[in-house]
Amino acid sequence: MPLYIQWSVLIVGGLIAWLTSNSLVSRAGVDTSTGISLGLSFVAGYLVSVLVHEVGHTVAARHFGIGVRRISLLFYGGAAELESSPPDPVSASAVLAATFSSNASFEPWPPKM
Ligand SMILES: [Zn+2]
Repeated sequence: MPLYIQWSVLIVGGLIAWLTSNSLVSRAGVDTSTGISLGLSFVAGYLVSVLVHEVGHTVAARHFGIGVRRISLLFYGGAAELESSPPDPVSASAVLAATFSSNASFEPWPPKM
């Protein structure tokens, strides 16, 4: 399945990485290379979490026989582009709710308070 990364992801991601690293260097006192690494890691982690979220939609849609054209990463999030609408409320709810389980995969288990 194609993965589409819109050009804006690079610009906005680069800006967020720069702002994050700049803030870490000036306010938290980390050295520049560490700040850049953490800024880029922050953006990469965000994009991976969006991708996992959209894969959750994709797996659920395919379970119900709905094709997925592509997964898109956009500067404000992502989208799994379905070939058709879910045929009934149950499958529609499942396609939406599947992201909760994919998001939960990032949570430590057992949960720490
Ligand atoms: Zn979603």
